[in-house]
Amino acid sequence: MTARVLDGKAVAREIYDEVGKAVSERTARGGTRPRLATVLVGADPASAKYVELKQRNARSVGIETEDHRLPAETTTEELLELTRRLNEDESVSAILIQQPAPRQIDMRRVVFALDPVKDVDGFHPVNAGLIALGLPGGVEPCTPAGIIQLLERSGVTIEGANAVVVGRSNLVGKPTALLLLKRNATVTLCHTKTRDLAAHTRTADILVAAAGRIHLIGKEMVKPGAAVVDVSTNWEGGRQAGDLGPGVETVAGWLTPNPGGVGPMTRAMLIKNTYEAEVRRRG
Ligand code: NAP
Repeated sequence: MTARVLDGKAVAREIYDEVGKAVSERTARGGTRPRLATVLVGADPASAKYVELKQRNARSVGIETEDHRLPAETTTEELLELTRRLNEDESVSAILIQQPAPRQIDMRRVVFALDPVKDVDGFHPVNAGLIALGLPGGVEPCTPAGIIQLLERSGVTIEGANAVVVGRSNLVGKPTALLLLKRNATVTLCHTKTRDLAAHTRTADILVAAAGRIHLIGKEMVKPGAAVVDVSTNWEGGRQAGDLGPGVETVAGWLTPNPGGVGPMTRAMLIKNTYEAEVRRRG
C-alpha cells in the first residue's frame, strides 16, 4: 500500500481562500478589517523569517499587519508594556509574540498578560481552559487546530477512531488530544514514561507523532491503513525529517509529507484565528 497524502499545502490554500473571501465580504458590508500585530524580540534569522512569512500570509488574504521588533536585550517588563499597549489598541485584532523569546524573558508572564481574545496562538490559560473543558469560545492553538482541519478536510473520520498522540506538550500533544476527544475519537496520550509505546501506536486509526525524536515510529509500529500525522521538525543531514522511520508510507493509509504537512496548516490556522478574533471582538 502507498499512503494517500495528507496535503497540508493544498488544505492550507483552501483555508486562505475561505478567509480571504470572508474578509472581502466583511469589509464590503462596512465591517472592520482584521489586523495582526507581530512581535519579535531579538534578531534570530529563523524567527525573523517565520514572522515575515506569517505577515505575508496575512496580507495575502486582506488582513492588515504591523511588525514590532524589539532588541535582544529587552526585559520582561518592556515586553509586558508593549503587550498591554497592543491589548488596548482598538485597531489590533490579534497579537502574535514569536517564540522562542530570549532567555531573560519570562514568557509565562507575557502570555498571561495577553488579552485572551487577541491571543491568536491560543496559549492564554483562559483559552487553554475553555478547550480543556470542551466549552465554546476558546482560541484553538494553531498546530493542533491545523492537524484536525487537515484530517477532516482530507476525509479522515475522527469520530469513533482510536487516536494515539505521541507527545504531551502544552504546545502540541495535549491540546491535539483534547481536540480529537472533542470530535469523539477515543484518545491515548503517550510520552516518555509510556510502557510499550508500540503496543499503543499499533492500535491507532489516527496516529499523531509529536515527540521530536527522529525515526521513533518504525513501520512495524503503525496499524495498516492508519492516518499518520508527522508533526515533528527534526533535522537530519541538513534536511527536515519527522518522527517516522523508513517505510511508514507502505503501511499507512494516509500520511503527511514532512515538510508540507502540518507546517503550512499551522500558519493557515494563525490567519484563520486572526480573522475569528476580529469577529469575536466586534461581531
Ligand atoms: P516537546 O515540548 O519537546 O515535547 C515532546 C513530547 O514528546 C514530550 O511530551 C515527551 O514526553 C514526548 N517524547 C519525547 N521522546 C519520546 C519517546 N521516546 N517516546 C514517547 N514520547 C516521547 O516538543 P513540542 O513542542 O511538543 O514539539 C514536538 C515536535 O513538533 C518538535 O519536533 C517541534 O519542532 C515540532 N513542532 C512542529 C510544528 C509545526 O508546525 N510543524 C509546530 C510545533 C512543534 P515527556 O513529556 O515525558 O518528556
